[in-house]
Amino acid sequence: MISGLFAKVIIDISHEKVDRPFEYRVPDRLMGQLSIGDCVTVPFGKTDALKTAYVIGLCDESEFPVHKLKYIKDISKEYVSVDSDLIKLAAWIKTTYGSTMISALKTVLPAKRVVKKRQVKRIVRSLGPEEIHSLYAQSIKKNQSAKARVLKELTTEEFLPYDLVVSKLNISAPTLNGLVRDGAITIEVCEDIDILISQELDRRGGISLSDEQRYICDEISAEMEAGISNSPTLGKYLIHGITGAGKTEVYLELIEKVVSKGQQCIMLIPEIALTYQTMMRFYKRFGNRVAVINSTLSPGEKYEQCQKAKNGDIDVIIGPRSALFVPFKNLGLVIIDEEHEGTYISEQNPRYHAIDTAIKLCELKNAALVLGSATPSVESYYRASKGIYRLFKLTKRLTGQELPQSQIVDLREELKSGNKSILSRALQEKISDRLNKKEQVMLFLNRRGYAGFISCRACGQVLKCPHCDVSLSRHKNGRLSCHYCGYDREDVSLCPSCGSKYISGFKAGTEQIEEAVLKLLPGVRTLRMDADTTKTKDSYEKILSSFASGEADVLIGTQMIVKGHDFPNVTLVGVICADLSLNEADFKTAERTFQLLTQAVGRAGRGATKGEAIIQTYRPDHYSITLASSQDYESFYEEEIVYRMVGDYPPTGAMLHILVQSKDERRALGLATALKKRASDKVRVLGPAKESIGRINDYYRYSIYLKSSDVKELERNRQSMEDYLDTAPLETEIVSFDVE
Ligand code: ADP
Ligand code: ZN
Ligand code: ZN
Repeated sequence: MISGLFAKVIIDISHEKVDRPFEYRVPDRLMGQLSIGDCVTVPFGKTDALKTAYVIGLCDESEFPVHKLKYIKDISKEYVSVDSDLIKLAAWIKTTYGSTMISALKTVLPAKRVVKKRQVKRIVRSLGPEEIHSLYAQSIKKNQSAKARVLKELTTEEFLPYDLVVSKLNISAPTLNGLVRDGAITIEVCEDIDILISQELDRRGGISLSDEQRYICDEISAEMEAGISNSPTLGKYLIHGITGAGKTEVYLELIEKVVSKGQQCIMLIPEIALTYQTMMRFYKRFGNRVAVINSTLSPGEKYEQCQKAKNGDIDVIIGPRSALFVPFKNLGLVIIDEEHEGTYISEQNPRYHAIDTAIKLCELKNAALVLGSATPSVESYYRASKGIYRLFKLTKRLTGQELPQSQIVDLREELKSGNKSILSRALQEKISDRLNKKEQVMLFLNRRGYAGFISCRACGQVLKCPHCDVSLSRHKNGRLSCHYCGYDREDVSLCPSCGSKYISGFKAGTEQIEEAVLKLLPGVRTLRMDADTTKTKDSYEKILSSFASGEADVLIGTQMIVKGHDFPNVTLVGVICADLSLNEADFKTAERTFQLLTQAVGRAGRGATKGEAIIQTYRPDHYSITLASSQDYESFYEEEIVYRMVGDYPPTGAMLHILVQSKDERRALGLATALKKRASDKVRVLGPAKESIGRINDYYRYSIYLKSSDVKELERNRQSMEDYLDTAPLETEIVSFDVE
């Protein structure tokens, strides 16, 4: 038994020079009270200024002369103490993603904040279901769509969580007050979420699992029962199933199993994909034992959720990637839904990958990991093919809806026949037809921010880097360059393959598409959703729910419109130019395009009428487009993995991305070049090249890439570069390493 005479601590100063453990003596009065993960205050440096520090080890012997050691001052009130597994996880994050220990610790520790007791409200139905139903019918007739949305929920629910109704169903206070005046509802203030849901939980929702679902649940439960500890191949699962195939139902069942054994579960889901319906499914199944972390929570409220988890007051947490660090005592299961989503990679330092971090966490806790997606990332599918994950498939839609039909339209032909509009003739016809039938249409622009590629509208050619097989980007200085290797060339005015003068970047945004639609069908009600129209906090939900309730006929938008929300009345989805994501400048473009197109196509026909999709493109033969159109994931994967192998790209090859940032552009480039010189001759080095976003917050950004089939070799290179950085005279330079 360690009584803990000495403590190893990490000082809270985000500077690498002190990013190592320091030893302190534990004063008598704290003896036996400290544990690993505690936050303490200690005197530090020549002036003995008080600093915050984290205890990462306790021992009864010191390597140092005792009289030279200082005493810990006190236990700090600022952070909650965490279990030692999270400290181990932080150490793993530090070495894997090359951050300081302190920023790794801050990532896993919840900051302690004062929680303002917030009022929790619930909506209580005060009329019988039949009367509510007739009110619902009336409001539909009167076109009171917001009112109808609440009433519809109330036909089956006795209580509704007020906040969820306001935020996710987007109902305003005046609407609710109107219902109070009508005598349909009352609004009550209550203590906690406990009483938000009807006391009688709807354990199954009247659903019995399909054979495919049952098989998955049984197999996973059996393996967990038999013990998955310390096995590199057991306890990690990938469920591949199209939207509507019943993945969420499987999650619910697995969680219930785990909870019934006294263990807890973390479920990650991109916030944008977490719909009102899904939240209600969890609330109904687990009542007050489930908590949701989302971006509308204040830090104090987040902290409170962590405390609840720690005290055993909840069993299930649903949230974004940071929910991984919720300190459950006896974690049994981690689920990552929509596992292919980019939001699972942190954009801040440390740039941890939630999936790999979850694997490590599950290993520390002997917990199982379940990943789910309709379009698994190539990386995950590759791992499944290697037996690292066990693969399960859900092949049937359980909702009875057929998959939408989709058609590819060759935009080169449109130009040839004199149609210069961004809407092809086929798409124009279908839009008119659908709107005539009072159905809704979604037009999708799959661009992410700045699209700098150059393509020919006559032949479809895209200008590519001769070395890297990725698109060149046009820079402000008018030159074209490659983001990986830095290759650059002068701009072109004629297509190098066919001589056409129609070669340029694709400039249309959502406004131009809206104009084209209005020109085609004057008076049509349109809504736009892009970075500009969603600047304010709730505008995203607002636009989606007003479209859902039929306040517009056509929704035009970027990525945001293809995730989450179901629109039963949408029967046509048009992809304006599939090439937008396909021509981005990196090796994952085909994968991203396949995912986006599959999601977009899947948006059509969620209701009773069968849906249809039109994909416009200059490259109608590209496998990511043809196979998304036929919704054939496996064939896509087979093609894509070959491209990765040939180009030595992940997951078959490994790639280390080294990002060098500095306020001084010359120094950023200089340091990147110096690092490049440290690379061993066993790896291929690309760059330095300026990032697609060349400067952020005054920091200039240059990258080099190291490629090799051997991850260990990349690790050795990184170590040698880190050693070099320890001695290099740095000013504002920041270097981050990211294994892809
Ligand atoms: P996914 O998460 O794969 O999109 P869900 O689990 O949300 O799929 O299921 C899609 C729809 O099918 C939901 O409305 C759900 O209630 C229903 N569903 C799921 N499993 C079953 C089942 N075994 N029997 C009947 N309906 C089901
Ligand atoms: Zn051409
Ligand atoms: Zn290149």
